[in-house]
Amino acid sequence: MQSTTLKLPTAFAEREAQLLATFAMHSSQTAGRRHPEPPHPYRGPFQRDRDRVVHSAAYRRLSAKTQVFTGEMGDYHRTRLTHTHEVASVARTLGRSLALNEDLIETLALIHDLGHPPFGHAGEDVLDDCLKSVGGFCHNAQALRIVELLETRYPEFPGLNLSLEVLAGQQYRARKSLPSSRAGEGQEARCCLLEVQIVEAADSVAYDTHDADDALELNLLVLEELLETPLWAEAARRVGARYTNLDHGELRRAVLHELIEWQVSDLIEQAIVRIAAKPLSLSAAGKVGSENRDDVLIRPSDELAEQKTQLETFLFSRVYRHPDVLSHRAHAQDALRELFARFIRRPDLMPENFLRRIASEGLERSVCDYLAGMTDRFAHQVAVSS
Ligand code: MG
Repeated sequence: MQSTTLKLPTAFAEREAQLLATFAMHSSQTAGRRHPEPPHPYRGPFQRDRDRVVHSAAYRRLSAKTQVFTGEMGDYHRTRLTHTHEVASVARTLGRSLALNEDLIETLALIHDLGHPPFGHAGEDVLDDCLKSVGGFCHNAQALRIVELLETRYPEFPGLNLSLEVLAGQQYRARKSLPSSRAGEGQEARCCLLEVQIVEAADSVAYDTHDADDALELNLLVLEELLETPLWAEAARRVGARYTNLDHGELRRAVLHELIEWQVSDLIEQAIVRIAAKPLSLSAAGKVGSENRDDVLIRPSDELAEQKTQLETFLFSRVYRHPDVLSHRAHAQDALRELFARFIRRPDLMPENFLRRIASEGLERSVCDYLAGMTDRFAHQVAVSS
């Protein structure tokens, strides 16, 4: 990576010096951007990154993309955008509690699912299959393509030209999600900044909580079934110690609040202990010590981790593989597969910017970039417009 030194306004650097821990990623220590830019007069580099993501087309499209349940199933459940906001909210709480860089954390949270295609993981599986001869498709890697290439908002450079720490954080996610057979030599996931680890943990807190809530609202589950899982049973016990005579709805909402509060508190307590045990390996640059960079410090206690795994196993079999969900999944996958075949046959039907990139990116990848950027709604419209 190229490196460039940024000179920040003194007030900004001083503010971070007062508020952030020595092991946080301070803006004054950034390695800069791939395309060097002068510092902004009053926004720090990660604050600028966050603003660039919020103003991007890919970010807005998250509002009409599936998280787990498609739009035809109702209006209550999470979209990819509201999930992203829940992750950012939890991540900022964790970050502030540990005196880490909230601007960097928020940027990482806002881009973490930016690469999801229409129809969530169902769409991802189709595109991965369609692209298997040219490296496959992974939403975490696609988020990098979006912020480095596909967004065209500035005349001076492709993409959003985000800070190198933001790109490195998303690269970590992309490498971590690769099956070992696809990970190249020396390309194994390295855990770097604590701000990156925070977003990973917050993503897990958010989806473990809201996927169950959405499934209840959609009547794919009943509360009594969830209360049989150890995680929900313990959260309900804690709620019961504070309240009596809650009705069904009140109990459900109280347990959801407790689940988030419990997981976040556990992460903070565990992180404080782990960070305190490794004071010398946390350098002033905020990086986990080079002698043991794979050590994840932001993770739940072993007991809570076990209970989260049990809940995820339950959700996988009872919710993600529910016949209603599978039916929507199959329909969406058929539509996306047909769209891929159509644009491979007739790439001239794609917008000019995707057509132009075929020369450098290849036909399959360019068609995939076009399809992956679609919202669920737009993909359905295009599918029926043949
Ligand atoms: Mg996520």
